[in-house]
Amino acid sequence: MNLSEAKVLIVDDDPAMLRLLSSWLEGVVFQVQLVRDGRQALTAIEADCPDFIITDWLMPHVNGEELCRRVRAAELPHYVYILFLTVKGTSEELIVGLEAGADEYLPKPVFPEELLARMRAGLRVLTLERRLNQMVRTDPLTGLMTQRTFYEILDKEWHRALRYHLPLSCVMVDLDFFKRINDVHGHPAGDVALKYAADLLQKNCRRSDSLCRYGGEEFCVLLPETNECSAAIWAERARRSFSEMVIPLGHTQIGITASFGVAQCYEDTPTPEALVDLADQALLCAKRSGRDRVITVTSLNDAGAVQLKNGPQDDLFRNIIARHVMTPLAFCLREDETIGQAAEFFLRSRSNSAPVVDPSGKLIGMLSEKDLMAAMVSLDCWKLPVHQVMKPHVITYEENAPIRTIYEFLCRVSIRRVVIVDDGRPTGTISRGALLRWFRNLVLSKGLIDTESAGISSVDSDPHRSRERLEDTARRLTAQASKLLRHVRKGADDLVPYVVGGATGIQELVYDLLAYSRYANDADHNASGLPSSLTEGSYVS
Ligand code: GH3
Ligand code: MG
Ligand code: MG
Repeated sequence: MNLSEAKVLIVDDDPAMLRLLSSWLEGVVFQVQLVRDGRQALTAIEADCPDFIITDWLMPHVNGEELCRRVRAAELPHYVYILFLTVKGTSEELIVGLEAGADEYLPKPVFPEELLARMRAGLRVLTLERRLNQMVRTDPLTGLMTQRTFYEILDKEWHRALRYHLPLSCVMVDLDFFKRINDVHGHPAGDVALKYAADLLQKNCRRSDSLCRYGGEEFCVLLPETNECSAAIWAERARRSFSEMVIPLGHTQIGITASFGVAQCYEDTPTPEALVDLADQALLCAKRSGRDRVITVTSLNDAGAVQLKNGPQDDLFRNIIARHVMTPLAFCLREDETIGQAAEFFLRSRSNSAPVVDPSGKLIGMLSEKDLMAAMVSLDCWKLPVHQVMKPHVITYEENAPIRTIYEFLCRVSIRRVVIVDDGRPTGTISRGALLRWFRNLVLSKGLIDTESAGISSVDSDPHRSRERLEDTARRLTAQASKLLRHVRKGADDLVPYVVGGATGIQELVYDLLAYSRYANDADHNASGLPSSLTEGSYVS
């Protein structure tokens, strides 16, 4: 920054002093503005924040000391360097002035050379502050604004949208399989790809849009005065541009795709952060349902979004809410429980995922078998708390959400289950399997289909079929046990993995066997089959 670029506000109730000072600075600095007291100064600062304020102390309305305090308390776009110019010159007065927030203290009379020298010294402070500010606000790799700056703008746009009833949309963008680019072509190539992605998004934005690098390979765009439908059109255009983009990397070239989550701010969207979170959830669905696509929040909730044939299911869904269908939660993981404890719980309960809650019982994430598998490979991770590996974004519905909405969501996306919450606390889950079972039972109990021709009755309730499965499971158990025995007899340097592997397989089969055990005493059948095959299995040589 140069003195010739600086804007200076001079505050003095003495017109002669104003004239004198402005004649010194005219032509040296970019702009000089003159006001007669502190009150006028505050109005001028609000309209256009200066870089320097040169102020007198004794003035009507708001004096110099008060002006200093007010400037320091105000949220201004950048730091303002304040010089006191006054006849008050005792060291007590100097302390008061500096404590009020002044940077410099010049006793009158002052000489032009000294004033300019002091201002040049101040310029060093201003330059440094601007540089730091720039670093905080701009992502060095892509040149886009940072998440922090984005949230400042979001806050303003949010209030503007509320006040003037304007639509406001947010689009979350995440590059697909970006890790592979780093893995295959190296981190610098990843950086190049990130820059291309940022440029592409920037080119697709209007001046009024705000684009930030949200973190890693994620970007977030705020589209003011844009509803969700238009935002989705924007996102679809950007998505297509991605798929057409070629990124040169030395002798080779690569392409990338991106996934988009689109959300609009509605009256029931409680905070600016909630808008971003909605877009993030839609993005998650875009990822989970196959990537390289645009998903809007409305499409996840809107009953009309899925092409369902009208039929008896419309009646079946009527008045049924999540609470009626959900599987109540037997257990949640606490965020501080370890990976080791979670694994133990999963194995014992035969579950493949569990909600994670904070000390107040509120849902903060979801831990799946897959997360555990990824973590357990490193032995150090066994002691880690689950909140470090869980997925923080969970698709949730309130207990009173219509079951039709959840049904349509689960039909559409690849997520297998949603969590049902009551005031942020998880109370149950609805999985695809649970819905399937519920639907089947409902149809059967209402006698809506001919079970004979649909062949339904013959699946679980047919003792013969179940008996067959029981025998088959017992046979597989036998085979598994013999295989294990062969391994043990043959010997190896480290037998533990074989024994653990074999025993784990046997454990699974034993669970199945227990599930079929109620068909063991089928009257129609000779009961000798099961014990004999089990007995044989135990003593295979
Ligand atoms: P998905 O499609 O599910 O989003 O897969 P992904 O591989 O894109 O996502 P994941 O979150 O697994 O990996 C993101 C990667 O982005 C991992 C991280 O190393 C990389 N990344 C984040 N920031 C930068 C960066 O500044 N430069 C480079 N080169 N890579 C980065
Ligand atoms: Mg990614
Ligand atoms: Mg990511």
